Amino acid sequence: MLRRSWVELSRKNKLQIITGHQPVPSSDLSGDKFRDECAVVGVIGNPEAANYCYLSLYAMQHRGQEGAGIVSTRGTEMRAYRDMGLVADVFDEDKLSMLAGTAAIGHARYATFGGKDWENLQPFSANFGENSFAIAHNGNLVNADKLRAELEQKGAIFSTTSDSEVILHLIAHATDQDTIPKKLEAAFQRLRGAFSLVVLGLRRLIAVRDAFGVRPLSLGKIGDGYIVASETCAFDLIGAEFVRDIEPGEMLEISADGKLTSHKPLKNKNNNPAFCVFEYIYFSRPDSTIDGLNVYKIRKNLGAELAKEHPIDADLVIPVPDSGVPAAIGYAEQSGLPMEFGLIRNHYVGRTFIEPQQSIRNFGVKIKLNANRDLLNGKRIVVVDDSIVRGTTSKKIVTMLRNAGAKEIHFRVSSPPTTGPCYYGIDTPSREELIASTHDVEEIRSYINVDTLAYLSAEGIYRAVGKPQENYCDACFTGNYRLGEPMNCVSPVKVGSIGSRKQ
Ligand code: SF4
Repeated sequence: MLRRSWVELSRKNKLQIITGHQPVPSSDLSGDKFRDECAVVGVIGNPEAANYCYLSLYAMQHRGQEGAGIVSTRGTEMRAYRDMGLVADVFDEDKLSMLAGTAAIGHARYATFGGKDWENLQPFSANFGENSFAIAHNGNLVNADKLRAELEQKGAIFSTTSDSEVILHLIAHATDQDTIPKKLEAAFQRLRGAFSLVVLGLRRLIAVRDAFGVRPLSLGKIGDGYIVASETCAFDLIGAEFVRDIEPGEMLEISADGKLTSHKPLKNKNNNPAFCVFEYIYFSRPDSTIDGLNVYKIRKNLGAELAKEHPIDADLVIPVPDSGVPAAIGYAEQSGLPMEFGLIRNHYVGRTFIEPQQSIRNFGVKIKLNANRDLLNGKRIVVVDDSIVRGTTSKKIVTMLRNAGAKEIHFRVSSPPTTGPCYYGIDTPSREELIASTHDVEEIRSYINVDTLAYLSAEGIYRAVGKPQENYCDACFTGNYRLGEPMNCVSPVKVGSIGSRKQ
């Protein structure tokens, strides 16, 4: 049913893909973190649409480094370019000039359940009948396998392993609906799980957030047009003005002439959102504003709450760079201890760094971080990090700090122990690999070899955020999977209709 009739620009050959962008070595610091999944962006009503998408993806590179793509339109046809690699490596001036148009959507990807092949790179695009559209998705569906099997029974042929292609086929199979918005709404009613989407038609851009609003999505104004992006840091780079967040369950349609039409076709039963609280703890850039709250401020608050809950007599507070820095500032301010950079990060270690033979102990961490020996020697230090996932990197950092002469090491974590995986669009290790799922705090303390270890409580998180716990998803540390698990998903409630305007 789906026919790819896009002008697909030239693509790098396989050899270049394999040799050009190696995966991050497992010893990379971020290898022992939950990983962001994707960034999405859409721009309409501006002749620089593709350029703005490119710059926005560049600003949101932290949300996905495996590959990137942009689909654009001038109102008559669509053009697409996708490839493996960092945004700045995927696009150059020539490719962006070929993507020139008045509307575009873009996607930066880190694979979650979809595998890591070129075919899974987004945006996905399709034609059926007179309709052409492209889609970029951030999140994960918990009923994707069920929907895929059902669609295959009906004859759908999948060319990727991505959840997002399931959405594309659902839209294509909504043959009882006569307009693109109605087809989209019919498809979204079938989805269970987390999805923040941008959909590009020849004359419209549609932004959608699932009924629980798990993943962020914000609306901005750029010139006479509009931009929708996963994080507001994208707006700052291109000079766009923040307008508002896309609401949970909202479908916002933006026409080529700048008309906004908002619908709320999806609602969850209790009408409580389930925004991912880990966006504040780790995923989002600290200069972004997520659901009305500045991420940097929240991280500082988390550190202050941590100091209130778990004070300790020490000489220095040391952040684990970079993500632990705001929480360490908050901890230091609250405790009255000085904060110093006892761990220095090398910012120039690229993704293509090839690790030589592991003859040097803890080489993987050392290439990224070095302990400041003069500062640490003989000191009692409080080390602040945002999370402990497997515990392997924390252990290596502690070894490095001890070798630099630290006399006492007190490890403080600005989130509760992560005991479960994420099913809603974040790449996490399996439950068994999460050290806190099988070890208590004392066992983890002993494993990473620190004098004391303490985590912020769930209550401390919500004091820092200043909003009630029932507005958030915190399943990876409470086990409360409000949208269901892959075999046991919660149904949103259909409450409205998108209207009947023809495409
Ligand atoms: S399970 Fe954790 S990482 Fe996943 S959406 Fe919920 S809070 Fe975020």
